[in-house]
Amino acid sequence: MKLIVIIQCEDVVKRCSGFLCMRDFYDRKGKFENYDSDVRYMTMTCGGCCGNLLTPKLENLGMRLKKENIEKDDVIFHFASCICSDNFHRSPCPFMNRMKALLSRKGFYNVVLGTHISQKAEAKRQAGFYKKWE
Ligand code: SF4
Ligand code: SF4
Repeated sequence: MKLIVIIQCEDVVKRCSGFLCMRDFYDRKGKFENYDSDVRYMTMTCGGCCGNLLTPKLENLGMRLKKENIEKDDVIFHFASCICSDNFHRSPCPFMNRMKALLSRKGFYNVVLGTHISQKAEAKRQAGFYKKWE
């Protein structure tokens, strides 16, 4: 069993419900297109800048996974697209690499950049208005 964990920006969730990330997960679009139908997902926020509060969340998750006999290798983290790219809500997160390091310190090594891919943001990237994906 594989589990996707979408990490959302604590700032952006004050403005965004995360609906499009959820929709694209179930529709297997964007960065989710290659997952099998039995893959499950959950979301968590980073906890706020600079991502330090991810650590207790990851410890909690690790404990729950152990109780459910789910291997950490079967967990794939996705940083929401609004963390890794220019977008309507804000600039990319300056702490992304730090958060990746926090994940690996807790034994989570599978990280994908992105979730829902906004067509409007893609068009702005093509036009040079937004920088390319980081
Ligand atoms: S990628 Fe889009 S839908 Fe997903 S959390 Fe960020 S702003 Fe919301
Ligand atoms: S650490 Fe990054 S993802 Fe988290 S609130 Fe700050 S900018 Fe957003």
